[in-house]
Amino acid sequence: MAKHRPERDSWGSLSDKNVYDWSSEEEEPDGRARPIQVLLVKDDHTFELDETALSRILLSEEVRDREVVAISVAGAFRKGKSFLMDFMLRYMYNHASENWLGNPEEPLTGFSWRGGSERETTGIQIWSEVFLVDKPDGRKVAVLLMDTQGTFDSQSTLRDSATVFALSTMIILKITCYNIVTLFQLFTEYGRLAMEETFLKPFQSMIFLVRDWSFPYEFPYGQEGGMKFLEKRLKISENQHEELQNVRKHIHSCFTNISCFLMPHPGLKVATNPHFDGRIKEIDGEFINNLTVLVPWLLSPRNIDVKEINGSKITCRGLLEYFKAYIKIYQGEELPHPKSIYQVTSPTHCCHFSQVCGGDRPFLAPSELQARHGVIREEALQVFKGVKKMGGEEFSRRYLQQLEGEIDEVFVQYIKHNDSKNIFHAARTPATLFVVIFV
Ligand code: GDP
Ligand code: MG
Repeated sequence: MAKHRPERDSWGSLSDKNVYDWSSEEEEPDGRARPIQVLLVKDDHTFELDETALSRILLSEEVRDREVVAISVAGAFRKGKSFLMDFMLRYMYNHASENWLGNPEEPLTGFSWRGGSERETTGIQIWSEVFLVDKPDGRKVAVLLMDTQGTFDSQSTLRDSATVFALSTMIILKITCYNIVTLFQLFTEYGRLAMEETFLKPFQSMIFLVRDWSFPYEFPYGQEGGMKFLEKRLKISENQHEELQNVRKHIHSCFTNISCFLMPHPGLKVATNPHFDGRIKEIDGEFINNLTVLVPWLLSPRNIDVKEINGSKITCRGLLEYFKAYIKIYQGEELPHPKSIYQVTSPTHCCHFSQVCGGDRPFLAPSELQARHGVIREEALQVFKGVKKMGGEEFSRRYLQQLEGEIDEVFVQYIKHNDSKNIFHAARTPATLFVVIFV
């Protein structure tokens, strides 16, 4: 246990900037918040979830029972995701104040950005500090910032990236992505992986952010220009390639609201100077102006929201369970067909995470449960039949019937119990989804 845990304010942070006593001393002697790799895609394309690290963050006493909004930035390598994330961190640490941008000479810190040409690991990093935000209606919600990294440079890594994307978007709420082609590829792949049929209308809304927008005279920077641009890009026309049409339709079927924001180029220092350390002074004014619109638009206490679907909201504790369950599915040799996910998730009743966490057996797909039941039932009946019994056939038959009845009753109970572990139902509560496309 940490020795010293000062009170946190409603933003979850301490007055000392970037200092937050979030973990045990052995691992984090200076108590500084930092990015934690919680999901790693390994070279053999398997996924590894660092449950311990994730639990430490999500089960911390102050946040575990709070509704959570996770904000994610996902996309290819070196597109400025971490850079943008770090501005979000600054906004959170400065409590959404008017001058949250702070000292123009201050280097930008947080998730590691820059990093030359060295490839970063594919996966998800989360910020070790979860922020608590007071909504104007009096609710307090937890905000989790996630930085994700895909590769998109071959079919197999595209698949990994799609999984990372799937995992982050399933859980989260706001996400970024980078160039419309990649996004479409991702959606095609992702669609194959998980997003089909009725199972997924998972996202309430999605915001594309287009970076380095250089045609402000055609479509102005910001949200309005973005919307017009997006309408044009997503318009389905007769002479488009069929696959592209499908992906476009798919995007529409996945998101209830779609919006878009056009960001200007940050200037040559940001894009090319290896010594640039993120100080605002060296970033183009136009970029900063739009940043001061964009970040509050995404993160202000008024705008940040945990959407409620079917009466359930996801808490930090629930998010952890969700991560675990989702990764289990992806760890199977075969990626599940969407239909099977749908069956898995097709809810018969609403359940809460407390029930979900009950019992230590993993959730089974109903079809598998049915199949196992068949085998167990048959085995039990064989055992019964195989044992020499007193009283003759007729007598025995009565007990056989009773046994069958009992087995079936246990099965019904087991279905209920299994259903109660169907956290996908309870977890199907993402709020806003924010996708940044860097074109
Ligand atoms: P990530 O791999 O997507 O996380 O990318 P980083 O955040 O590490 O940024 C990679 C490089 O892109 C850095 O050198 C940044 O200075 C630069 N960068 C950040 N934002 C932008 C942007 O909006 N436009 C351009 N052109 N470069 C950017
Ligand atoms: Mg990065």
